[in-house]
Amino acid sequence: MELENQFTQVLGKSIADATRKELYAGLVTLVKQRMTGIPETEGKKKLYYISAEFLTGKQLGKNLINLGIYDEIDEILRKNGKQLSNVEDAEEEPSLGNGGLGRLAACFMDSIATLGMAGDGIGLRYHFGLFKQEFIDHKQHEVPDTWLGKPCWLEKTDVTFPIELAGKTYHSRMYNLDVIGYKNGHNQLHLFDLDSVDESIVHDGIEFDKTDIAKNLTLFLYPDDSDKNGQLLRIYQQYFMVSNAAQMIIKEEKDKGHDLHHLDDYIAIQINDTHPSMVIPELVRLLIKEGMSMKEAANIVTNVCAYTNHTILAEALEKWPMDYLNEVVPQLMPIIGGLDYAVVCAYNDNENLNIISKDNRVHMARIDMHYGHSINGVAALHTEILKQQELRPFFDIYPDKFNNKTNGITFRRWLMHCDHTLSTYIDQLIGESWKSDADHLQDLMQYYNNEDVLNQLDAIKHQNKVEFAAFIKSKEGIEIDPDSIFDVQVKRMHEYKRQQMNALWIIYEYLRIKNGQRPAHPITVIFGGKAAPAYYMAKDIIHLILCLQELINNDPEVSPWLKVVMIKNYNISKAEKTIPAADVSEQISLASKEASGTGNMKFMLNGAVTLGTADGANVEIRDLVGHENIYVFGRTSDEVINLYNTSGYHAHEYYDRSESIHRVIDFITGPELSKIGDPALLGALKDNLINKDWFMTLLDLESYCNVKETLIYDYQNREKWKRMALVNIAKAGFFSSDRTIAEYNRDIWHLR
Ligand SMILES: *Cc1c(COP(=O)(O)O)cnc(C)c1O
Repeated sequence: MELENQFTQVLGKSIADATRKELYAGLVTLVKQRMTGIPETEGKKKLYYISAEFLTGKQLGKNLINLGIYDEIDEILRKNGKQLSNVEDAEEEPSLGNGGLGRLAACFMDSIATLGMAGDGIGLRYHFGLFKQEFIDHKQHEVPDTWLGKPCWLEKTDVTFPIELAGKTYHSRMYNLDVIGYKNGHNQLHLFDLDSVDESIVHDGIEFDKTDIAKNLTLFLYPDDSDKNGQLLRIYQQYFMVSNAAQMIIKEEKDKGHDLHHLDDYIAIQINDTHPSMVIPELVRLLIKEGMSMKEAANIVTNVCAYTNHTILAEALEKWPMDYLNEVVPQLMPIIGGLDYAVVCAYNDNENLNIISKDNRVHMARIDMHYGHSINGVAALHTEILKQQELRPFFDIYPDKFNNKTNGITFRRWLMHCDHTLSTYIDQLIGESWKSDADHLQDLMQYYNNEDVLNQLDAIKHQNKVEFAAFIKSKEGIEIDPDSIFDVQVKRMHEYKRQQMNALWIIYEYLRIKNGQRPAHPITVIFGGKAAPAYYMAKDIIHLILCLQELINNDPEVSPWLKVVMIKNYNISKAEKTIPAADVSEQISLASKEASGTGNMKFMLNGAVTLGTADGANVEIRDLVGHENIYVFGRTSDEVINLYNTSGYHAHEYYDRSESIHRVIDFITGPELSKIGDPALLGALKDNLINKDWFMTLLDLESYCNVKETLIYDYQNREKWKRMALVNIAKAGFFSSDRTIAEYNRDIWHLR
């Protein structure tokens, strides 16, 4: 009753009379009031998590859950003829991230608060985020994502810092987002911006003048860097982010009366991928200004900073030209030069270790590895590959810095919020202790032979599929059958993730159905994901999928057995609708290339069965559920690494040797698809697959087709499948980000 009164009061009218927008605005006010009442978490030592991305997802539902009032608000609305999920839909999703890395940062913020640690996030307030994806003529188009509407969860502050960019001083502004943990903790996410940024300079989709820093600095996350001005802009953004971070941290420490000479007793900084690496020289610079020697400053910064590596893809390890850094951040160059000089002296100018390489590029990750005390990979396999292959020279000199922190996801969003029915049913079966200690999900194993429980879990999945089908019908205009297998691959579009292999399987299956060989059970293949605007191959893969969608769904001979859906503008909200409806989780990256994956964990937690390669955290999923509850196929990471080292893979040999692969590849440029799509794009894709195929699609295609046939056959054995689903949920506890964060703290941060 007290909550209902408070709600009515902020609304200024009765709940029954309020519109959806008014209810949403009222709940934002109510939640903010409640959050303000929770004291900010304090501790002797505080963490700062710096990241170019925080893919937070919508805030309302998550905050209601964490405040422990979700069910009560739901009930109050229901009583008044309203629906909470409907009100939640009124929120714009913050577009502050790209994919897994940004989502990880958001899950971590949730867990850090939940575990009662003092830890703030630091990032940028991108006006249009990444971009919004639209499909026109079966192609991706990018438009600005206008998420910064009103009411907004971000609070504008008066806090500002002077930031020097290319010799000119700009004044930043800080915005804050409250981060409330699950029934515990209160931290902040600080997002920095410039008041002068001008949204009106964006035209023709996402084009804008890349040179006008005052107006463009924080318009977009990852602006196109295929030219020099784009690269300069990224450096401007990165320095702006870390200079704000460093100044804010030093100010907070001084305000607390802490001695900067003992900074490492009071703070820890986690550098999420290489984008925030300049925080190291920037902190050194500021500490020297505070009167410290270069040597002492470098030592303290090393004790404070820790680096997380997210990928072994070479193009993702940033190496900025010296000239560019000289232009944008001349004040940092003496520091970076000094840091490099110490490395050169210590390691006898071993070129592989130098921060500044002979071609005059600054290797950002190398700054982190020399001047940070921890280097972590994000899954067991990934960390081993870093140690033995990619970062071997650094492992040889700093073996003790390397450690693994297998990624995790917050179960508050990825189960309690996205599948409230399943979450509530689990409570009925095993109590609520799994919400604070996720390992307790294992208690579900006692129902392994309980037919009623297995049927109930299956009924929940089926209902989710029915709701998802209605969603797809309304958003994409495509009719799909909830009784077909929902086979889902949703993630950023990238050749290494091999959506193209899934598309080739679709062609393979289409040709078989045309030939009278039907699959054992009807199947719906669901894709979703954005391609980077300048990544042509990824866009061509989207084009192929959209053309297949058109061809197959309109073919009455094929569509009862096979359908294709590409969800547009895949984001957190769409993920939350899609994942609870999935039967099969496609995790088919080329082994060794997917550092961890976190999508794989979300699907497992929601009772989908993984079809994947032995890559990233899939390996750990297999170890947890056992071989009989996962479908693993394809070459191992050792075999793949060996093929790269010996240049032993030639796609055209597979194309020439296998008649079936030949036929599938030729179909891409055959008459059926040429009528629908753009022959130039489809031709480029086919050509790449035969003559380049850098991520070895054809290497694993046959084993993929074979295992998928087995899987479809097994799906008909309902008893077997229901048990697999149960085991996957029960064994998912390890992938709670609460576990990951506890490990970061135990091994790296040592917060007290
Ligand atoms: C979890 C998530 C990802 C990461 O998915 P992967 O399969 O691990 O690449 C990307 N985008 C969104 C919206 C997500 O929720």
